[in-house]
Amino acid sequence: MTYLDNAAATSVCLRAGEALRAGIDDMQANPSSVHVLGRLARESIDGARASVARALGCNTQSVCFVSSATEANNLALLGAADAYGRKKKRIVTTTVEHPSVLKTLDYLEQRRGFEVVKIAPNRTGEIDPHEVISAVNEDTCLVTMMYVNNENGYILPVRRVFVAVKKQFPHVITHCDAVAAFLKLPFKIRELSADLLSVSSGKVHGPRGVAALFVRSGVKLTPQIYGGEQEFGLRSGTEPTALILSFAAAVDFLTPTIDKRFDEAAALKKYFRDRVAGNRDITINESGECSPYIINFSIKGIPSQPLVNFLEGYKIYISSGSACSRGNSKNTAISQLSPKTASWAVRVSTSHLNTMHDMRTLVDAIGEAQQALLRCK
Ligand code: PMP
Repeated sequence: MTYLDNAAATSVCLRAGEALRAGIDDMQANPSSVHVLGRLARESIDGARASVARALGCNTQSVCFVSSATEANNLALLGAADAYGRKKKRIVTTTVEHPSVLKTLDYLEQRRGFEVVKIAPNRTGEIDPHEVISAVNEDTCLVTMMYVNNENGYILPVRRVFVAVKKQFPHVITHCDAVAAFLKLPFKIRELSADLLSVSSGKVHGPRGVAALFVRSGVKLTPQIYGGEQEFGLRSGTEPTALILSFAAAVDFLTPTIDKRFDEAAALKKYFRDRVAGNRDITINESGECSPYIINFSIKGIPSQPLVNFLEGYKIYISSGSACSRGNSKNTAISQLSPKTASWAVRVSTSHLNTMHDMRTLVDAIGEAQQALLRCK
C-alpha cells in the first residue's frame, strides 16, 4: 500500500497507540474526581498539556483540549466574536480557509450581524499581506488566517500580517488555523503574534477525537459549551484522558525531528518534481512558498476523480481535493487555476513514513494512468 493522503488523516504512531492503550487501561477515573485515581488522571492530563505547550512554545495553561480542529476553530471564532464583537463587528480573513473557519464566519455574518472581509489570493495564488492588513480597521474584532493551506500547501504570510495588525490595532484578536503546519514547519507561537491557534492530533500521528486550541493568557473567550467547567471553563465535558495522553505521546515523538522530517519531505517533493518535469501535461499547482508535505498537481485532460480511482487500483491513495467534508471537495485555494486545471487537480500529502520508493511507485503509476485514461478518451 502507498498511503499519500496524510493531510486528511495520519496513522497512529506506535508510541501514541501504546499511550492510548495504557490510558484506557489505567486512567479510567474522572480527572475531576478528588480521590487519588482522579488526581492521577488530572496530573497525567497536565503532563500532556505541558508536552503540547512545549511543542507550540507557549505556557502550559494556554493549551485547551477540545475534540477536533473543527471545534477548536469554532470555539476560537465564536468565542472571540461573543467576547470582543459586541461593538466591533468586522472580521478579516482569506478565501482559502478551511470550511470550519469559512462556514463559522458565514454564520457570524448571516445570523449575527458581523461584516466578514475575505481577501482572495492574487493571480499567482498568493495572499498579499498588505491587502489583509489594510482591511483591518478600528471596527475590527478579529483576524483569522490559516498557516498552511491544506489543499496546495501554500504558506500564508501569517506572521507578517499578525505582527503588523497587533502593532497598529493591539485590541484585535488574531487566530491561526495551524493544523497543516503543526510539527511540520518549525514555528513558535510567540513569534507569530497569534492570540489563538488551532492544532489537531489526527494530523500528527495521534488519534482522532482530540485537538487543542492555544489561548493566550489574558484573552477571554466566551465558552460555546456549558457544563462542568473543564478546560479552564472554556470547554465543558469530561476530558478523554486516554486520547489526550495519546495525542501528547505523538507530539513528543514528532517534536525533536521537525527539521529532519521537513528535509525528507522536501526531498520527496523534489524527486516528484524532477521526475515529472519533462511531462508537459503535468502542472504542479503551487502558490508562492509551499509546505514540502503537500503536492497539488493536475494532469491535462484527466479529471481528478478518475485519476484517484485509477491509482486506488494500484493501492496508491491520494486525494481529489481536501477531504474536509464528506467526499472530497475543492475549496478556493486552487481557484486561481483555470476551471479545467482545477477540475484535474489532485493532492498528494506525505508524512515521515513515506519513502522514495513510494514516490517512484506514484510517478510510475501516473505514467500508466496517462496512457490508460487519455487513450480511452
Ligand atoms: N483546518 C485544516 C487546515 C484542516 O486541514 C482540517 C482537516 N482537514 C481542519 C481544520 C479540521 O480538522 P478536523 O476535521 O480534525 O476537525
